[in-house]
Amino acid sequence: MTLSHENKIKYKRVLLKLSGEALMGQESFGYSPKVLDYLAEEIRSLNKLGIQLAIVVGAGNICRGRSLSKLGTDKIVADQMGMFATIMNGLMLKDALIKKSVNSEVLSALKVDGIAKRYDHNTAKGYLDSNVVVILSGGTGNPLVTTDSAASLRGIEIEADILLKATNVDGVYDKDPNIDKDAVKYDKISFDSVLEKQLKVMDLTSFCQCRDYDLPIIVFNINKKNALFNAVSGQSEGTLVYND
Ligand code: UDP
Repeated sequence: MTLSHENKIKYKRVLLKLSGEALMGQESFGYSPKVLDYLAEEIRSLNKLGIQLAIVVGAGNICRGRSLSKLGTDKIVADQMGMFATIMNGLMLKDALIKKSVNSEVLSALKVDGIAKRYDHNTAKGYLDSNVVVILSGGTGNPLVTTDSAASLRGIEIEADILLKATNVDGVYDKDPNIDKDAVKYDKISFDSVLEKQLKVMDLTSFCQCRDYDLPIIVFNINKKNALFNAVSGQSEGTLVYND
């Protein structure tokens, strides 16, 4: 990236919410090495520009509490398994970043000595200030919520400028674009309008937390090359959700 790219950065500290599915590509379970390599490259280019990147990883590629509890597993146990799966994903992402010579650290909300350091917001901020990519695993450390809650909570704790919600669609639409061909994408929309129109951006509690603490969200398609860079540089990418 050139100096002109550096001048275009709009958001210096970024919280990226990466679902487990984002690591899976076309696979039906686990990981796609090709996708991991692609994600690591996208992250590397941001890191080279000095953008402070914290990544909350989900675990839908391995285990979601809700799916397990449908099979009869106790819901708290199921969520604990889900949280552990996010740590596995964190380690996998770190491994992909090591291959690209990107300095990163996995922090965990759960105690897993010898595998990942325990999360606290000052430790995370210290790494970010040193241009180390911080991978936030273990969710919030509590059951009965998802990694959307971890994303809003950690985003506010580390004083991120923006929460980037990586998805498989190009942004927020007035209708489901997978069902309605005439669905229209919003370039920007206020938090209140999303609530009023009952559009789905992320879990409602995390969405309201972002609104209440004035953390804007960009919903974007992670599979689109350079979309991550476009989003942090404030170019029209995905949908910006903001307080008006
Ligand atoms: N989870 C939890 N507490 C948290 C975050 C996650 O119990 O703070 C569990 C929950 O079972 C969830 C699973 O971990 O389903 C994986 O997270 P999520 O469903 O958010 O993954 P994603 O959909 O982002 O891949």
